[in-house]
Amino acid sequence: MGKIVIISGPSGSGKTTVCKLLENDARVKKSVSVTTRPPRQNENNGESYHFVSTAEFKDMIQKGELAEYAEYCGHFYGTPVKALQEAISKEIFYLLEIEVQGALQIMEKFPEAISIFLLPPDKKTLSQRLVKRNTNKKQDMAVRLKTADKELEYKDRYDHCVVNDDLEETINIIRKILKLV
Ligand code: 5GP
Repeated sequence: MGKIVIISGPSGSGKTTVCKLLENDARVKKSVSVTTRPPRQNENNGESYHFVSTAEFKDMIQKGELAEYAEYCGHFYGTPVKALQEAISKEIFYLLEIEVQGALQIMEKFPEAISIFLLPPDKKTLSQRLVKRNTNKKQDMAVRLKTADKELEYKDRYDHCVVNDDLEETINIIRKILKLV
């Protein structure tokens, strides 16, 4: 049986980079979410996300095609259930890089899931990372920073909290948690 691994953390905590590095291990695979958010410049459909319209997203909810879903900063995000079921039938670690509302739904449905909350070293670093990314509009960035505060309130619901200061160290800690080393 495979294992579901939830990775959450505020925007700018480094989740995407961490997941990419964890995926260097052949035993680790990341779920591709469905979203109504427009693609960023470097994002390809089917790789970063499956980009869909709101109508398509709602249709997927109706048909029970999402294991969880949530609205985040004005857009919908969800985890396709079919790919998740396929993944857990194999001996792999299936990463769900999702926000807290969706994470709580997965924890309830799959209590055996391993949950990890990534923390930025401090608030200043978080906003610096968001500015550096430079892909979010100013208004969107403000919303994301405000949302970060709310998300941090949920960190104790997770099995593990990891401060993502030094990337290499973060990866080592998570690999140890998952017993990949
Ligand atoms: P972004 O727009 O920066 O790619 O993602 C915004 C937030 O949505 C991030 O916290 C990301 O982890 C989360 N997210 C991405 N995919 C999913 C998903 O399938 N479900 C949920 N609940 N959140 C997701």
